[in-house]
Amino acid sequence: MFQKILIANRGEIACRVAATARRLAIRTVAVYSEADAGAKHVAACDEAVAIGASPPRESYLRWERIIEAARRTGAQAIHPGYGFLSENEDFAQACAEAGIVFIGPPASAIQAMGLKAEAKQLMERAGVPLVPGYHGARQEPAFLRAEAERIGFPVLIKASAGGGGKGMRAVESAADFDAALASCQREAASSFGDDSVLVEKYVQRPRHIEIQVFGDRHGNYLWLFERDCSVQRRHQKVLEEAPAPGLSPALRRQMGEAAVAAARAVGYVGAGTVEFIVEQSEAGMSFFFMEMNTRLQVEHPVTEAITGLDLVEWQLRVAAGEPLPLSQDALRIDGHAIEARICAENPENDFLPSTGTLQVYRKPPAASFERAPVRIDDGVREGDTVSPFYDSMLAKLIVHGATREEALARLDAALARFHVVGLSTNVQFLRQVVRSDSFATARLDTALIARERDALFGQHPVSLPLAAAAAVAATLREEQHLQGADPFSRRDGWRSHGPARRRFAFEFEGEPAGAELVYEHGGGLRLEVGGNPLALAFDPTGEHGLDLRLGDARERITVYTQGEVDHVFTDQGAAAIVSLDLLAHAGEGHAEAGRLTAPMPGKLVSFAVRAGDTVRKGQALAVMEAMKMEHTIAAPADGTVAELLYAPGDQVAEGAELLRLTTA
Ligand code: ADP
Ligand code: ADP
Ligand code: MG
Repeated sequence: MFQKILIANRGEIACRVAATARRLAIRTVAVYSEADAGAKHVAACDEAVAIGASPPRESYLRWERIIEAARRTGAQAIHPGYGFLSENEDFAQACAEAGIVFIGPPASAIQAMGLKAEAKQLMERAGVPLVPGYHGARQEPAFLRAEAERIGFPVLIKASAGGGGKGMRAVESAADFDAALASCQREAASSFGDDSVLVEKYVQRPRHIEIQVFGDRHGNYLWLFERDCSVQRRHQKVLEEAPAPGLSPALRRQMGEAAVAAARAVGYVGAGTVEFIVEQSEAGMSFFFMEMNTRLQVEHPVTEAITGLDLVEWQLRVAAGEPLPLSQDALRIDGHAIEARICAENPENDFLPSTGTLQVYRKPPAASFERAPVRIDDGVREGDTVSPFYDSMLAKLIVHGATREEALARLDAALARFHVVGLSTNVQFLRQVVRSDSFATARLDTALIARERDALFGQHPVSLPLAAAAAVAATLREEQHLQGADPFSRRDGWRSHGPARRRFAFEFEGEPAGAELVYEHGGGLRLEVGGNPLALAFDPTGEHGLDLRLGDARERITVYTQGEVDHVFTDQGAAAIVSLDLLAHAGEGHAEAGRLTAPMPGKLVSFAVRAGDTVRKGQALAVMEAMKMEHTIAAPADGTVAELLYAPGDQVAEGAELLRLTTA
C-alpha cells in the first residue's frame, strides 16, 4: 500500500479521500489555489502545496505543477477526485511517465470512453444495448437530418465530447433540426474544443440508472449494483438513490453484466460508472448504454451505504496492485440510501449559483462512515467564503435506512436541520422535492422536477404570524439575556398595572408587515398580526433554538439573527424576516435620494444588499452598530443599489455616505 498520496482536487471529494487515507494510515498531500489557502481540504491533509491562482486553469488544471508537487513531497500516487483532471488521459499518461500512480483507469480506457460516439461504437461491438441512433463519423447536416428522420423524432443531438449536461439539444421535428444542430455544434466547439455530434432517439420520461463497476489489474471485474439518478435539472443530478425503486432482480443482473462487459471491453481498472438510460413502457423497462464515467462519481456514497464498503479504499488497493477485495457473490444490498446535493444556488432564480460567506452553517447530527443513518460529506466550514471560482456544491447529505420510506423520513428530518445563512442554497427546494408526490411514491424519471414544479417553486412554508412570532421571541430573548429577568430592570414594556403594548415593524417576503405585542395582566404575552391575536410563549432550547407556542400551535424553531434579519428555521421550512427599526425609520429624512448616510458614528456591521440589487422603500440596506445597539438603515425610496462604499467592520463617521442608491 502507498505511504503517501497527493489529492489533486478540492472541496468535499478531497476531504473524503483524505478521511479514508487517514484511516489506512496513508499520509496525504493537498494542493490548493489562492482562494483555497484556508480551505477545509487543506486542513484535512497532512501537507499542502500551493499550486497557483484561483481560476482552475491556473491551479487545479495545471497538471505539470501537480506532478511536480507530488515529486517534491514524495507522494507515490495521485487521486484526481472527480471533475478537473479526473478524466484527462494526458494527465493519466503524464503521471505514468513520471513514475507516479494515477488512481484511476489506464489512459487508454479514459480515451476509449472519452468521446461518446466512439465509446458507442465500441459498446456496439461488445454487445451492450445502445439507444437507437447514429454515432458514426459523418457530420454533414443533410446526412444527420436524414438519420434523424430514420430514427424518428423527437431526437437528441449530443456533443460527442460533452459532459456535465452541456452540449445537448432535443429536437421535436425535422424543421427544427438544422438550427438545433448548428447551435449544438457551436456550444460543443466552444465548451469542449470539438464540434462532432451524435444523434439518438429522445427517450420520453426516461430514468437514469447507472451501475458502479470495479476492475483490478488482475483481470477481475464486478458490479456494485445500481444508482437511480433520474431526478435532474438541466440534465444534472439533484438526488440519487440506491437501489433503484422497482428494478427487478433480473433486470438488475442484466444491467450489471452489461456494465461489466463495457468495462472489460476497454481494459478498465479501478472505479467506474456505466450510465444507462431506461425507457419505461407498458411492456416494462428497457435499458440502453449512455456513457461511461471513468472516475469515482459524486454519488458514490449511496453505493457505499447499501454495500457497507469504502470505495475509495478499494480504489487505493486496486491502484496499489491488490486484487479486488471481494467477489461478486459476496455482495449484498442492505437497505436503501439517498443522497441530496447541497448547493450554493438559488432554485427560485433558475438555480443561479450564489456566493458569499457561510455566516451560519449548521448540520444535523451525522457520522462519516459508510453505513451511517445520516452521513455528511462536505468541504466547507462555518465562516468560509464560497468563491465564484468553483463548483457550487457545498455538501452531500446521505441517508440510509432499512427501507426507502425510512431513508426518506431521515432525509427530510436531516434537511430540516441543515441551516445555512449568508448565501442561497437549495436546501428548502430539496425538501419540497423529497416531499413531492412523485418522489415520495418513487415515480422517478428525468421530468420529475418539471412535472412537480407547482409544488416545488414559490413555496412559502413559514406563515407571517409564525415568522413574526419567531422574530419577536428572538428579540425578547436577546433583551432578557442582556438585562436579566428582574422585572424592575425590564425595559421591554412590562408594567405592573395594566397591559402594555409594543409595536414591531417587519418586512416579510418583500412586503411590509406589522405586529403588536401585548403584555397581559397575568404576565402572559399576546401577539397580534393582521388583527388576529394569539397567545405567545417561548422557551429557549439551546443557543439558537426556541420552543415556541403561538395560539394552539407549538413549533420547535431555530432563529439566527444577522443584524436586523432573523433567519427562521421550522419543521415546515425556512424564511427570513427583517425587523425594521422604527427609530431608524424616523431618521429617513437624513438621507436625500441617492445618498444614504450614516445617522450616527459607528461600525458598519453588514450590508443586506449588494451592488446591482433593486430595493423597495423601507427595505433594510445596511446595519450599523453604535453604542452597543444595532440600527437598520432602510431604503428611503424604491431604487437600485449602485455601489457599496464601505466594508463590514469599517468605522464610519456620522453623515458619511454608506452606499449609493439610484432611485427611480
Ligand atoms: P455526471 O454528471 O458526469 O454523470 P457527476 O454527477 O458525478 O457526473 O458529476 C461530476 C461532474 O461534475 C464532474 O465531471 C465535473 O464536471 C462536475 N463537478 C462537480 N463538482 C465538482 C468539483 N468540486 N470540482 C470540479 N468539478 C466538479
Ligand atoms: P453528460 O456527459 O452530460 O452526463 P449524458 O449522455 O450522460 O451526458 O446525459 C445526461 C442526461 O441527459 C441523462 O442523465 C438524461 O437525463 C439525459 N439524456 C441523455 N440521453 C438521453 C436520451 N437519449 N433521451 C432522453 N434523455 C437523455
Ligand atoms: Mg452522464
